[in-house]
Amino acid sequence: MPFETCVVETIQRTPDIKSIRFEKPQGFRYLAGQYIFITLGDGPEKMEKHFTLSSSPTEGFLEITKRLTGHPFSNALAGLNSGDKVSIRGPYGDFTFQAEYDKVGMLSGGIGITPLRSMIKYSIDKGLNPSIILLYSNRLDSDIAFRDELEGMQREKNGIKVIETITRPEPEWKGVTGRINAEMVKKFMPDYMERTFYTSGPPKMVDAMLSLLRELRVPEEQIKKENFYGYD
Ligand SMILES: Cc1cc2nc3c(=O)[nH]c(=O)nc-3n(C[C@H](O)[C@H](O)[C@H](O)COP(=O)(O)OP(=O)(O)OC[C@H]3O[C@@H](n4cnc5c(N)ncnc54)[C@H](O)[C@@H]3O)c2cc1C
Repeated sequence: MPFETCVVETIQRTPDIKSIRFEKPQGFRYLAGQYIFITLGDGPEKMEKHFTLSSSPTEGFLEITKRLTGHPFSNALAGLNSGDKVSIRGPYGDFTFQAEYDKVGMLSGGIGITPLRSMIKYSIDKGLNPSIILLYSNRLDSDIAFRDELEGMQREKNGIKVIETITRPEPEWKGVTGRINAEMVKKFMPDYMERTFYTSGPPKMVDAMLSLLRELRVPEEQIKKENFYGYD
């Protein structure tokens, strides 16, 4: 369903990740993890791209979160201010979570966090009790989007565990380091064969996670993925 809405707030999450919040039209329904299309501009300048909703259906606004690339669409999106109008189509996609699984493993890096943030927030707001373990990889600790919120959700809810791993750690980083690998999954999710996995992000990241899960012999039917085509 196409509709027009307007920006209500923008939030700089990290130096190169920004969230844009839109008014949620009455009656607009979606599932945690789904995406929308956003159209900017008019005529030959018209551009449309996919964006996962990083907001949860339980929240009173629609939020998308964009990795800023310096390219035309990215600049136009980053330049939006409160009150600006945009055209949206959606929701779409079956990379969703409605607490169908008791044990979930989430593997992601960088901007791939957007649907997973929506799912974790949904689970908490609905008072659901699945065990969710998120392995979240970034280059620097300053690149971790939603860091305070994710760490807060972990404190708030016993079943939520967030493990951040950094590939280029500063000396003061005391946490996990390196890319997500099979050893990390075994260590932080010893019951990984019982978990349903969600992995999302740029195709290279998703492919690496799929290889890792296959190496661990996790059955295909326990793996859900969302490729952010458009990023290399
Ligand atoms: C289902 C789905 C969900 C998605 N969800 C999100 C989301 O939540 N957040 C998000 O940020 N994105 C998401 N995306 C990706 C999004 O739709 C865009 O493709 C992405 O944000 C890149 O758009 P852009 O305009 O910034 O960059 P583009 O201009 O489209 O460039 C994309 C990449 O191509 C390369 N490139 C393009 N032009 C050049 C050039 N001239 N020189 C060198 N390299 C170039 C660059 O490496 C660049 O990173 C999603 C995609 C899908 C399919």
